[in-house]
Amino acid sequence: MLEVQNLKVSYGRIEALKTVSLNVGEGEFVGAIGSNGAGKTSLLMAISGAVGASGGRVSFDGEDITHLPQHLRVSRGIAIVPEGRQVLGPLSVIENLELGAYCRRRQPRAAIARDLDMVLELFPILRQRAQQLAATLSGGEQQMLAIGRALMSRPKLLLLDEPSFGLAPKIFAEILATLRRLHADGLACLMVEQDAHVTLETTSRSYVFRTGQIIMAGSSSQLRERGLVLVEESYLGAGELVQ
Ligand code: ATP
Repeated sequence: MLEVQNLKVSYGRIEALKTVSLNVGEGEFVGAIGSNGAGKTSLLMAISGAVGASGGRVSFDGEDITHLPQHLRVSRGIAIVPEGRQVLGPLSVIENLELGAYCRRRQPRAAIARDLDMVLELFPILRQRAQQLAATLSGGEQQMLAIGRALMSRPKLLLLDEPSFGLAPKIFAEILATLRRLHADGLACLMVEQDAHVTLETTSRSYVFRTGQIIMAGSSSQLRERGLVLVEESYLGAGELVQ
């Protein structure tokens, strides 16, 4: 479904991604792990269209979307849960969720209302907080809201940028359980994380990044067997290059 070929992202003279190729199949849960500055956020930004590619190609469902504006990528079925959540603090929970459905504003209200209800079923705490301003939510609630907002666009592929960031392990475990449910219902996910352990436990395939390149790739169970230490060492500098 998602094909990234020889993708490059640069910020001035800084090369954040140097010729990265990867793919995500329909309904797959894929991970991308790596240390600080490895280029994981740049990858998701380039797939979602928030930053432009300086080389290579991104295609989705067979269509070349490399130069498609971000809002049209949302309409094609790509939604992002950005690093640091980025909920709109002065708006209520419901208003944030409704904004997530902006690309569907010409669709019948009833369909959007059904999805709003689905999100509030998925995250019951958001129903309790419906009229509360997003800025006053806890970190975990804000992460749920960011995921809910992304779901409101009815994505086929959910891009998740470090969903564990700043959350207590128990809260993140609850969020992961919900992501697994969504995946079981057919949603494809590409999750970027620094936490190799959680990522390899959750995903079926993973890519390991270091300084803008993929240095290991394979099934998450294989990568687990090769040992988390090896995977972690590889992105800290001691591993071999497999791609
Ligand atoms: P982290 O886990 O810390 O978020 P990351 O793997 O997501 O890191 P990126 O945020 O993609 O990595 O950053 C990759 C490289 O690009 C880093 O060297 C970073 O300093 C640089 N970079 C990212 N955004 C910009 C920007 N807007 N301007 C200049 N350099 C940038």
